[in-house]
Amino acid sequence: MKRILIIALLSCLVHCITVGNPERNPAEIPASSGFADWNQVFRQPARIQEFQILHTGEVEVPVEGMLNKESFQSEDPTMFVDVYAFWFCHREQGCFLIDSGLDTSFGKGKPGNVRGLMAKSYIISSRQKPGSDILSQLSKENRKSRLKGVFFTHLHGDHSSGIPAISRDPAMQNLQYFVAEGEPYVNYWLLYQGDHLDGVDSLRELPVDQGVEMPILGRCLDVFGDGTFWAIKTPGHSPEHLSYLLITEDGPVLLTGDASHTRTGFEQGIEPGWVSDREEAVHSLRKLKEFSREFPEVQVVFGHQR
Ligand SMILES: [Zn+2]
Repeated sequence: MKRILIIALLSCLVHCITVGNPERNPAEIPASSGFADWNQVFRQPARIQEFQILHTGEVEVPVEGMLNKESFQSEDPTMFVDVYAFWFCHREQGCFLIDSGLDTSFGKGKPGNVRGLMAKSYIISSRQKPGSDILSQLSKENRKSRLKGVFFTHLHGDHSSGIPAISRDPAMQNLQYFVAEGEPYVNYWLLYQGDHLDGVDSLRELPVDQGVEMPILGRCLDVFGDGTFWAIKTPGHSPEHLSYLLITEDGPVLLTGDASHTRTGFEQGIEPGWVSDREEAVHSLRKLKEFSREFPEVQVVFGHQR
Protein backbone atom coordinates (compact mmCIF):
# COMPACT_ATOMS: atom_id res chain seq x y z
CA MET A 1 0.00 0.00 0.00
CA LYS A 2 2.76 2.38 1.04
CA ARG A 3 4.65 1.55 -2.16
CA ILE A 4 1.60 2.28 -4.33
CA LEU A 5 1.17 5.62 -2.58
CA ILE A 6 4.80 6.55 -3.17
CA ILE A 7 4.56 5.56 -6.86
CA ALA A 8 1.33 7.57 -7.22
CA LEU A 9 2.95 10.57 -5.54
CA LEU A 10 6.06 10.34 -7.73
CA SER A 11 4.07 10.04 -10.96
CA CYS A 12 1.94 13.01 -9.88
CA LEU A 13 5.13 14.99 -9.20
CA VAL A 14 6.59 14.12 -12.59
CA HIS A 15 3.29 15.08 -14.23
CA CYS A 16 3.07 18.36 -12.30
CA ILE A 17 6.67 19.29 -13.05
CA THR A 18 6.35 18.62 -16.77
CA VAL A 19 2.86 20.10 -17.01
CA GLY A 20 1.94 21.68 -20.31
CA ASN A 21 5.15 20.70 -22.11
CA PRO A 22 3.99 19.91 -25.66
CA GLU A 23 5.46 17.10 -27.72
CA ARG A 24 8.18 18.09 -30.11
CA ASN A 25 8.55 17.31 -33.80
CA PRO A 26 11.13 18.38 -36.34
CA ALA A 27 10.03 21.36 -38.45
CA GLU A 28 10.02 20.74 -42.19
CA ILE A 29 12.45 23.18 -43.70
CA PRO A 30 13.03 23.48 -47.47
CA ALA A 31 16.59 23.34 -48.79
CA SER A 32 18.28 26.75 -48.67
CA SER A 33 18.52 28.49 -52.01
CA GLY A 34 22.27 28.73 -51.54
CA PHE A 35 22.98 32.23 -50.29
CA ALA A 36 26.51 32.56 -48.99
CA ASP A 37 26.83 36.23 -48.12
CA TRP A 38 24.58 38.93 -46.72
CA ASN A 39 24.93 41.42 -49.58
CA GLN A 40 23.51 38.75 -51.86
CA VAL A 41 20.64 38.23 -49.39
CA PHE A 42 19.87 41.96 -49.17
CA ARG A 43 19.85 42.41 -52.97
CA GLN A 44 17.07 39.92 -53.65
CA PRO A 45 13.46 41.09 -54.05
CA ALA A 46 11.75 41.41 -50.66
CA ARG A 47 8.96 38.94 -50.13
CA ILE A 48 8.02 40.02 -46.61
CA GLN A 49 5.24 42.54 -46.25
CA GLU A 50 3.36 44.13 -43.37
CA PHE A 51 6.22 43.84 -40.88
CA GLN A 52 4.91 45.38 -37.67
CA ILE A 53 6.08 45.63 -34.09
CA LEU A 54 3.06 44.99 -31.86
CA HIS A 55 3.60 46.66 -28.49
CA THR A 56 1.47 44.61 -26.10
CA GLY A 57 2.31 46.21 -22.73
CA GLU A 58 5.14 46.60 -20.27
CA VAL A 59 6.57 44.57 -17.42
CA GLU A 60 8.58 45.82 -14.45
CA VAL A 61 11.74 43.76 -14.10
CA PRO A 62 15.01 43.93 -12.11
CA VAL A 63 17.59 46.02 -14.00
CA GLU A 64 20.22 43.41 -13.15
CA GLY A 65 18.22 40.86 -15.16
CA MET A 66 18.41 43.06 -18.26
CA LEU A 67 22.03 44.20 -17.91
CA ASN A 68 24.90 42.37 -16.26
CA LYS A 69 25.43 44.26 -12.99
CA GLU A 70 29.21 43.77 -13.23
CA SER A 71 29.14 46.16 -16.21
CA PHE A 72 26.15 48.38 -15.45
CA GLN A 73 25.21 50.14 -12.22
CA SER A 74 21.74 51.57 -11.89
CA GLU A 75 20.25 53.80 -9.19
CA ASP A 76 16.86 52.20 -9.68
CA PRO A 77 16.70 48.49 -8.94
CA THR A 78 13.84 47.94 -11.41
CA MET A 79 12.72 49.21 -14.81
CA PHE A 80 9.70 48.91 -17.07
CA VAL A 81 10.40 47.25 -20.42
CA ASP A 82 8.18 46.73 -23.46
CA VAL A 83 6.89 43.33 -24.45
CA TYR A 84 6.49 42.85 -28.20
CA ALA A 85 5.09 40.42 -30.66
CA PHE A 86 6.16 40.87 -34.29
CA TRP A 87 3.77 40.42 -37.19
CA PHE A 88 4.84 39.72 -40.76
CA CYS A 89 3.42 38.24 -43.95
CA HIS A 90 5.45 36.35 -46.51
CA ARG A 91 4.04 36.56 -50.04
CA GLU A 92 3.75 32.81 -50.49
CA GLN A 93 4.01 31.38 -46.97
CA GLY A 94 1.40 33.56 -45.26
CA CYS A 95 1.41 35.53 -42.02
CA PHE A 96 3.24 34.73 -38.80
CA LEU A 97 4.04 36.09 -35.37
CA ILE A 98 7.43 36.12 -33.74
CA ASP A 99 6.81 35.65 -29.99
CA SER A 100 3.36 36.16 -28.61
CA GLY A 101 3.25 39.35 -26.55
CA LEU A 102 1.04 39.78 -23.48
CA ASP A 103 -2.59 38.89 -22.92
CA THR A 104 -5.09 41.04 -20.98
CA SER A 105 -4.01 39.61 -17.59
CA PHE A 106 -1.08 42.04 -17.69
CA GLY A 107 -3.50 44.96 -17.51
CA LYS A 108 -4.07 44.18 -13.84
CA GLY A 109 -0.66 45.34 -12.66
CA LYS A 110 0.56 41.95 -11.35
CA PRO A 111 2.84 39.40 -13.07
CA GLY A 112 -0.07 38.70 -15.41
CA ASN A 113 -0.59 35.04 -16.26
CA VAL A 114 2.69 33.93 -14.67
CA ARG A 115 2.37 32.60 -11.12
CA GLY A 116 4.49 30.75 -8.57
CA LEU A 117 6.85 31.51 -5.70
CA MET A 118 9.52 32.95 -8.02
CA ALA A 119 7.24 34.84 -10.43
CA LYS A 120 7.63 38.19 -8.65
CA SER A 121 11.43 37.95 -8.77
CA TYR A 122 11.19 38.16 -12.54
CA ILE A 123 8.04 40.17 -13.23
CA ILE A 124 7.39 42.62 -10.41
CA SER A 125 4.39 44.33 -11.96
CA SER A 126 2.96 45.19 -15.34
CA ARG A 127 0.98 47.85 -17.17
CA GLN A 128 -0.94 47.81 -20.40
CA LYS A 129 -3.04 50.26 -22.37
CA PRO A 130 -6.54 48.91 -23.03
CA GLY A 131 -6.72 47.34 -26.47
CA SER A 132 -2.97 46.67 -26.75
CA ASP A 133 -3.05 43.03 -25.58
CA ILE A 134 -2.20 40.48 -28.26
CA LEU A 135 -5.75 39.29 -28.92
CA SER A 136 -7.05 42.84 -29.43
CA GLN A 137 -4.24 43.53 -31.90
CA LEU A 138 -4.83 40.26 -33.76
CA SER A 139 -8.51 41.15 -34.01
CA LYS A 140 -7.62 44.04 -36.31
CA GLU A 141 -6.94 43.94 -40.07
CA ASN A 142 -8.27 40.41 -40.43
CA ARG A 143 -5.09 39.11 -38.78
CA LYS A 144 -6.67 36.18 -36.93
CA SER A 145 -7.82 34.42 -40.09
CA ARG A 146 -4.49 35.05 -41.82
CA LEU A 147 -2.20 33.86 -39.01
CA LYS A 148 -0.37 30.61 -39.89
CA GLY A 149 1.94 30.20 -36.93
CA VAL A 150 4.23 31.56 -34.24
CA PHE A 151 8.04 31.53 -34.19
CA PHE A 152 9.58 31.84 -30.73
CA THR A 153 12.91 33.47 -29.92
CA HIS A 154 12.86 31.35 -26.73
CA LEU A 155 10.34 29.97 -24.24
CA HIS A 156 10.48 32.38 -21.29
CA GLY A 157 7.13 33.41 -19.80
CA ASP A 158 7.12 36.96 -21.16
CA HIS A 159 7.51 35.58 -24.71
CA SER A 160 4.88 32.86 -24.44
CA SER A 161 2.31 34.73 -22.30
CA GLY A 162 0.06 35.58 -25.25
CA ILE A 163 -0.26 31.94 -26.35
CA PRO A 164 -3.22 30.92 -24.13
CA ALA A 165 -5.29 33.75 -25.62
CA ILE A 166 -4.26 32.69 -29.13
CA SER A 167 -4.54 28.90 -28.77
CA ARG A 168 -8.00 29.12 -27.13
CA ASP A 169 -9.43 31.33 -29.86
CA PRO A 170 -11.63 29.34 -32.27
CA ALA A 171 -10.45 31.52 -35.16
CA MET A 172 -6.81 30.55 -34.62
CA GLN A 173 -6.74 26.77 -34.48
CA ASN A 174 -4.25 24.64 -36.47
CA LEU A 175 -1.41 27.10 -36.01
CA GLN A 176 2.15 25.87 -36.20
CA TYR A 177 4.50 26.76 -33.35
CA PHE A 178 8.26 26.88 -33.97
CA VAL A 179 11.20 26.95 -31.58
CA ALA A 180 14.91 26.11 -31.85
CA GLU A 181 15.72 22.45 -31.46
CA GLY A 182 16.37 21.68 -27.79
CA GLU A 183 15.26 25.03 -26.37
CA PRO A 184 13.85 24.26 -22.91
CA TYR A 185 10.38 25.40 -21.89
CA VAL A 186 10.62 27.39 -18.66
CA ASN A 187 7.52 26.34 -16.72
CA TYR A 188 8.20 25.08 -13.22
CA TRP A 189 5.42 23.85 -11.01
CA LEU A 190 5.01 25.95 -7.83
CA LEU A 191 7.99 28.15 -8.72
CA TYR A 192 7.34 29.86 -12.04
CA GLN A 193 4.41 28.60 -13.97
CA GLY A 194 2.16 29.97 -16.66
CA ASP A 195 1.21 26.76 -18.49
CA HIS A 196 1.20 28.99 -21.55
CA LEU A 197 1.67 26.07 -23.95
CA ASP A 198 -1.19 23.97 -22.57
CA GLY A 199 -3.26 24.45 -25.72
CA VAL A 200 -0.33 23.74 -28.04
CA ASP A 201 -0.23 20.15 -29.34
CA SER A 202 3.18 20.22 -30.89
CA LEU A 203 6.28 22.38 -30.99
CA ARG A 204 8.12 22.20 -34.30
CA GLU A 205 11.84 22.33 -33.73
CA LEU A 206 13.95 24.39 -36.12
CA PRO A 207 17.18 22.50 -36.96
CA VAL A 208 19.38 25.59 -36.80
CA ASP A 209 22.56 23.51 -36.48
CA GLN A 210 21.86 22.18 -39.98
CA GLY A 211 21.67 25.76 -41.28
CA VAL A 212 24.15 27.68 -43.41
CA GLU A 213 27.40 29.08 -42.01
CA MET A 214 26.97 32.80 -42.79
CA PRO A 215 29.52 35.60 -42.41
CA ILE A 216 29.71 37.17 -38.92
CA LEU A 217 26.50 35.56 -37.60
CA GLY A 218 27.60 31.92 -37.94
CA ARG A 219 24.89 29.24 -38.07
CA CYS A 220 21.70 30.59 -39.65
CA LEU A 221 18.65 28.74 -40.88
CA ASP A 222 17.04 29.95 -44.12
CA VAL A 223 13.56 29.14 -42.81
CA PHE A 224 11.52 29.46 -46.00
CA GLY A 225 14.42 28.47 -48.27
CA ASP A 226 14.31 31.74 -50.24
CA GLY A 227 16.62 33.90 -48.11
CA THR A 228 13.85 36.17 -46.79
CA PHE A 229 13.56 34.92 -43.22
CA TRP A 230 16.53 33.72 -41.17
CA ALA A 231 16.72 32.15 -37.72
CA ILE A 232 20.08 33.01 -36.17
CA LYS A 233 21.64 30.96 -33.41
CA THR A 234 22.33 33.38 -30.53
CA PRO A 235 22.59 31.26 -27.36
CA GLY A 236 23.49 32.56 -23.91
CA HIS A 237 20.39 34.24 -22.52
CA SER A 238 18.74 30.84 -23.00
CA PRO A 239 20.46 27.67 -24.22
CA GLU A 240 19.15 27.69 -27.83
CA HIS A 241 17.99 31.28 -28.17
CA LEU A 242 17.18 32.58 -31.66
CA SER A 243 17.40 36.04 -33.17
CA TYR A 244 15.65 36.60 -36.52
CA LEU A 245 16.50 38.51 -39.69
CA LEU A 246 13.73 39.48 -42.12
CA ILE A 247 14.10 40.99 -45.56
CA THR A 248 11.05 43.24 -45.59
CA GLU A 249 9.72 45.62 -48.24
CA ASP A 250 11.17 48.43 -46.11
CA GLY A 251 14.60 46.85 -45.87
CA PRO A 252 16.27 44.24 -43.67
CA VAL A 253 15.30 44.04 -40.00
CA LEU A 254 17.26 42.25 -37.27
CA LEU A 255 15.28 41.17 -34.21
CA THR A 256 17.85 40.52 -31.48
CA GLY A 257 15.32 38.92 -29.14
CA ASP A 258 16.71 38.69 -25.62
CA ALA A 259 20.29 38.38 -26.86
CA SER A 260 19.95 42.12 -26.14
CA HIS A 261 16.93 43.24 -24.13
CA THR A 262 17.77 46.95 -24.30
CA ARG A 263 19.32 49.63 -26.51
CA THR A 264 21.79 50.44 -23.70
CA GLY A 265 22.91 46.83 -23.61
CA PHE A 266 23.41 46.75 -27.37
CA GLU A 267 25.20 50.08 -27.67
CA GLN A 268 27.47 49.53 -24.67
CA GLY A 269 28.01 45.84 -25.40
CA ILE A 270 26.57 44.68 -22.06
CA GLU A 271 25.05 41.23 -22.15
CA PRO A 272 21.88 40.38 -20.19
CA GLY A 273 22.14 39.70 -16.46
CA TRP A 274 19.87 36.69 -16.82
CA VAL A 275 21.86 34.12 -18.77
CA SER A 276 22.08 30.38 -19.15
CA ASP A 277 25.73 30.75 -20.20
CA ARG A 278 27.52 34.08 -19.80
CA GLU A 279 30.34 33.39 -22.24
CA GLU A 280 27.86 32.42 -24.95
CA ALA A 281 25.72 35.49 -24.19
CA VAL A 282 28.77 37.77 -24.58
CA HIS A 283 29.71 36.07 -27.85
CA SER A 284 26.16 36.26 -29.27
CA LEU A 285 25.87 39.97 -28.47
CA ARG A 286 29.32 40.64 -29.94
CA LYS A 287 28.43 39.03 -33.28
CA LEU A 288 25.11 40.89 -33.54
CA LYS A 289 26.92 44.18 -32.87
CA GLU A 290 29.57 43.39 -35.45
CA PHE A 291 26.86 42.52 -37.99
CA SER A 292 25.11 45.82 -37.27
CA ARG A 293 28.37 47.77 -37.69
CA GLU A 294 29.12 46.01 -40.99
CA PHE A 295 25.56 46.47 -42.32
CA PRO A 296 24.23 49.79 -40.96
CA GLU A 297 21.29 49.60 -43.40
CA VAL A 298 19.80 46.82 -41.23
CA GLN A 299 17.24 48.11 -38.72
CA VAL A 300 17.97 46.59 -35.31
CA VAL A 301 15.08 45.92 -32.91
CA PHE A 302 15.98 44.96 -29.33
CA GLY A 303 14.07 42.39 -27.30
CA HIS A 304 12.32 44.76 -24.90
CA GLN A 305 13.08 48.36 -25.89
CA ARG A 306 12.71 50.61 -28.95
ZN1 LIG B 1 14.03 35.83 -21.85
